[in-house]
Amino acid sequence: MKDVHDRERRPSLTPGGRVVVDEAERVRDWFDLRVPPLTAQAFAPDDLARGFLARHAGAFGWAPALADLRPTATLEVAGALSVRFAQEHHGLPVDASEVIVNLRPDSRVHSVYSQYRYGIPATLRPAAARVDAVHARQVAARLTRMFAQRAIGPPRLIVYPYREHGLRPANRSRRPPRARAAFVRAARARLARAPRPAPGAYVLAWDVRVATRRPLGRWRVLVDAVSGRTLDVLDELAYATGRGRVFDPNPIVTSGDPTLSWATSTGTLNKQRARVDLENLDPPGVDGKYRLDGPWVNMEDYDLPTYAEPARKTPRFEYGAKSRKFLDVMAYFHIDRFRRYLDALGFQDVATASVAVDPQGQEGLDQSGTDGVAITFGEGRVPDASDAMLILHEYGHVIQESLLPTSSTGNHASGLSEGFPDFLAAVYYDDKHADPAKTRGLMFSWNSNPTDGFAPARTYDLPHRFDGPEWAAANAYERGAIWCSAMFELYRKLGGDATHRPTKLAARDLVIRLHLIAHAGIHPLGATLTQVVQQLEAADAHGLHGKVIRDTFARRGAPGYALPPVDVYVFDGREGGYGTPDGRDAFTASLWKQDVGDTPDVWVTAGARAGDTPVAPRAGQAVNLWVRVKNRGTLGSGPVSVKAFRATAPAMTWPADWAPLDPATPALPVPDVAPLPAAGVVAGPFAWTPQAAGTAHVLVVLECAADPAVTETLPAGAAVPHLDLVPFDNNVALRRFAVAR
Ligand SMILES: [Zn+2]
Repeated sequence: MKDVHDRERRPSLTPGGRVVVDEAERVRDWFDLRVPPLTAQAFAPDDLARGFLARHAGAFGWAPALADLRPTATLEVAGALSVRFAQEHHGLPVDASEVIVNLRPDSRVHSVYSQYRYGIPATLRPAAARVDAVHARQVAARLTRMFAQRAIGPPRLIVYPYREHGLRPANRSRRPPRARAAFVRAARARLARAPRPAPGAYVLAWDVRVATRRPLGRWRVLVDAVSGRTLDVLDELAYATGRGRVFDPNPIVTSGDPTLSWATSTGTLNKQRARVDLENLDPPGVDGKYRLDGPWVNMEDYDLPTYAEPARKTPRFEYGAKSRKFLDVMAYFHIDRFRRYLDALGFQDVATASVAVDPQGQEGLDQSGTDGVAITFGEGRVPDASDAMLILHEYGHVIQESLLPTSSTGNHASGLSEGFPDFLAAVYYDDKHADPAKTRGLMFSWNSNPTDGFAPARTYDLPHRFDGPEWAAANAYERGAIWCSAMFELYRKLGGDATHRPTKLAARDLVIRLHLIAHAGIHPLGATLTQVVQQLEAADAHGLHGKVIRDTFARRGAPGYALPPVDVYVFDGREGGYGTPDGRDAFTASLWKQDVGDTPDVWVTAGARAGDTPVAPRAGQAVNLWVRVKNRGTLGSGPVSVKAFRATAPAMTWPADWAPLDPATPALPVPDVAPLPAAGVVAGPFAWTPQAAGTAHVLVVLECAADPAVTETLPAGAAVPHLDLVPFDNNVALRRFAVAR
């Protein structure tokens, strides 16, 4: 799916509208609040909606008669109308194929969302069924016989688009009710017996709903109507959402006050708690009480000392900061939220089991640990589970183990085994610092606070190189801290220091995704640092961030990573680097250029000489544009082709929204650029006559065989927003001009 804004392609539907189309350019979403009413008369909403769909049938790839769309419901909520249609195929309902038309009471149709299924084989028709409803009901009955109370609904013959989903039955806690455990075993065995269809395949299926009690359940059993075998089993129970209070991640980070300690008053610490939703809670047990158990994490008291886990008649888990039950809430919330975050990043297959947590174990000692299945938190003075950075660190080991068994202890030499969990804790909570200057860079700043601290706190602000003496002398945790410091620096150079919050969060998502994918491509035992960095590069779709990754690790002395002998760039306030202007990348300075549009080495003159005084361009007047090309390598660059483009659309997506600035001169050749300290070579002029007053954007790209621009290596068809291009390749520069009238 892709977004299309204000494109000419679907004039009937889209002037001013926001549209999402599928790979065949058929409309999936359409949205426009500025549409006029369709009629001044009284109208029937479903007729109006159907008429609207029929008029725009071409945009959706349908025949105008809409013979296979059946109205199912019209919802009216506070005056807003929502007309729903379901697709039929030879008279059979097609599962999950809804088309929604939303309109206002005055007949303004403002949005259409389509799940219509294209390409269902004509052979899927009622006559193709080889087993009947009686058989389907028997299959469902046999499968659910362990439930003392159940109600089996009437089987319906449907077209089922087979899909991967998170709804298959799973044992959500380590000790599920006996009937549920038996059912999950039986369902899994049944599903394992038949080959799974490919995701996206259409299957003729009997759809049977089963409601159970003791325990409460809502199941959907799909039976293949041709083979008679169980096709899928879906868990349709809605799980509870509770409320709780937690540190997010810890009181030192959220207050910016490193002097807080376990001796601080409960009242002061309580103020650092945040109110949160506890999602995915299992339904209440047979005693009618909610517990902190769900699909990703569940509380168990399997280790000494013994403290009962909280159980509540209502799902409210609000405890004081020094309460023992507070620790259960911390563990539940932070693991559940992070696992949901992984889901959103696309890692549904990572850490799929519910991890059992004993928030107070280790016989009270100040240590925490995991075997990849369960996590035990210790205490010492500050309970480990009261610091979410430590919770996420331990859960990071669970993730390592699920990606690559034994890797949480097998890669101490490369710093990965402890560095990866530290990295997650450092990056994931990086937007929570109230006073970054005081707390950013401190690992487990609450658990290892200086007042209570037994050991000096680990930090992730280390400048050490991988070929330096500190690395050589470091133990597993110290190597982890150096690895985490390097990865944190990479995160900051990818936007983690952006003051623009969406950019900062995008950097977080990007670097966590890269590291997770990289972790899946290495040896669980004895992976080398070089292999890990290579896998980071490989994980980067389209190689957009490869130069920043290679530069960061070359500067850190990673084996196999050297600075390139040719590195051409346009000065943007930095001499080709990706961090601070002075190239030293101090931890306390910003490693992100907040404005990439003020590159000084792209300028315009009114006259024919580059050395003339730069001018501000005026609409309708010809000017000359110049570019200074420099080289921070060690060898002459060889030929460089300098290209200049002007933005043709506000989205500034490469390449569609950029046209040559000077059609007569799309590129200017530079025979060679000598390395620094040479002053560089000025290329130009590109002739330019800005058409209109206002802001104009010029993009400059340096193409060079010894140092290609990322635009030269993108796969065909790639579309890249300019802000995913300019900050991560010093061969690409952006210059914004205010064009006067
Ligand atoms: Zn660890």
